[in-house]
Amino acid sequence: MNFFDLGVGRKSPLHHLPILIISVAVLIALITFLGPHDGWLKSEAAEETTTYDVVIVGAGISGLTAGDYLHKDYNIVVLEKNQRPGGRAISGHYKGFTYAKGAEYIGKPYGALKRILSQLKIEPKEIPSPMDAYYQDGKFYFGEEGIALMYIDKCGLDNFNDFISTIKKYARNYDDIPDFDLNSDLAKLDNISAKSWFEKENFPEIIIERYNIAARGLFGANLGEISALSAIPEIAFEYLGSPTIKDVGSLESTAPKGKYSTGSYTFLGGIAEVTTALGKELGDRVWYGKTVTDVSKNYGKYVVTFVDEIGEEEVVFGRVVILAVPAPVALKIAPTLIIGEKKAIMSKIEYSTYLTVSLISEEPIFEEAFDLAVPDEMFFTDVYDATWVEKYYSNTKRKEDVHIAVVYIPPKSYKDRSLIKMTDGEVVDNVYKDLEKIFPGVRENVIKYEVERFLYSFPVMTPGAYRRLTRLNLLNTGTLLLAGDYLIYPTIESAVDSGLLAAERAAAELGR
Ligand SMILES: Cc1cc2nc3c(=O)[nH]c(=O)nc-3n(C[C@H](O)[C@H](O)[C@H](O)COP(=O)(O)OP(=O)(O)OC[C@H]3O[C@@H](n4cnc5c(N)ncnc54)[C@H](O)[C@@H]3O)c2cc1C
Repeated sequence: MNFFDLGVGRKSPLHHLPILIISVAVLIALITFLGPHDGWLKSEAAEETTTYDVVIVGAGISGLTAGDYLHKDYNIVVLEKNQRPGGRAISGHYKGFTYAKGAEYIGKPYGALKRILSQLKIEPKEIPSPMDAYYQDGKFYFGEEGIALMYIDKCGLDNFNDFISTIKKYARNYDDIPDFDLNSDLAKLDNISAKSWFEKENFPEIIIERYNIAARGLFGANLGEISALSAIPEIAFEYLGSPTIKDVGSLESTAPKGKYSTGSYTFLGGIAEVTTALGKELGDRVWYGKTVTDVSKNYGKYVVTFVDEIGEEEVVFGRVVILAVPAPVALKIAPTLIIGEKKAIMSKIEYSTYLTVSLISEEPIFEEAFDLAVPDEMFFTDVYDATWVEKYYSNTKRKEDVHIAVVYIPPKSYKDRSLIKMTDGEVVDNVYKDLEKIFPGVRENVIKYEVERFLYSFPVMTPGAYRRLTRLNLLNTGTLLLAGDYLIYPTIESAVDSGLLAAERAAAELGR
């Protein structure tokens, strides 16, 4: 049935006017009362609501770096699901001590991170030697030379020197994504696993065994799961400056505190000191307790939907969006925007899970080095003395009474995600079982523990990662940008660089 069938006949064109007026009035009423929540009306309402130049999702170090770069010239907002900034850079506090429960140290600051630190007036502290200690076959080995002595004891001086010179040969031409040269000889190491490369080079069994533990501790994945190329920066660079060992007798098996430069740095408040300062700098531009659930595009603007602490849904609008969250989260919240090749590459990025357990004890558990690495069969890979740096740089005796060890628990394989499902009780029972083998009586000594869970701990650089990620960096343009350690390498420095890159590209899009 149409208008004419009602028998009203043909009228002049103006006969529609009252209906038109009523329709417009109804539409205005709908827009006013429904607000920006319903269907296409939210894009109309966006004209009245603030449209941000840039909406950043995630206040980890990558999102905060992007915010730091953009906030003076652009109207920005950062949406963060937690009640604190920092993401995987997280610290605990006890009797005036601050201890790292996630990221603990960085290399000597350079580039973007160095600039941010000097702008924030934050002083990095070199970790006093001995940085590392190993527990192997019931014995402790301390510092670079002490650990070299352990290797030489197990595999002989010539084999150890061959290993170092092979590593150095490859490491000299290494460059980070996105500058890595995919046509170089080194690029071939992207195609094979670190384990097959170590075996192909005939590295001694003890080297393969110890670096399997290192890979698990550093990436949450074993040597057979990471690309040989990705093993180079973290594992091999520790030998870049070391001379060939000629005289074993000249090596020191002990390492007095602070005697040597370790080239590794942290902050008295842990890495979280930097993210806390960045969060303060951005002030009320960071909205905490806001979990982003959807990012879509409507009428040329991004509509970013989030839920707040009490489960209420809200939206903000943005001209540019930076997704500074782990790859699986970005894929989940922006399914209509991350498509095609970008989606295909991002779907291949696997994350490991990880736990840390902080143990506060009446007596020291291990305070002879910053990090003690333990044998592969144990439940955890490392025990950190979380007071090591603060005690060295602090002048107060009061701090001597506080003992905090943080135990790092990666899976045996990144594919095993059972860790994250364990109860706190199961986790600490497993920790004590192995810790008691090294430090008998430790359980009675602990007065407080905390379990920290990381669902997305490290993006695993599986074989082919450098090729895939170099391509992803090229595709990372336009007004929906990605940031995060998974784009370069799983470290604080890379997360900073990726945040800066995204911010520079956002500024170029906005053109001011
Ligand atoms: C146990 C552990 C130890 C480590 N040790 C070191 C180390 O010693 N040195 C080093 O260089 N690196 C270390 N790393 C790696 C380092 O922590 C990361 O590379 C870095 O912190 C990554 O920063 P990011 O900003 O990319 O991601 P994240 O820190 O993960 O930040 C992402 C942010 O997004 C937020 N978010 C997630 N989903 C949403 C959502 N839907 N809505 C809103 N917000 C959301 C998260 O809460 C988080 O704050 C370690 C990591 C772990 C887990």
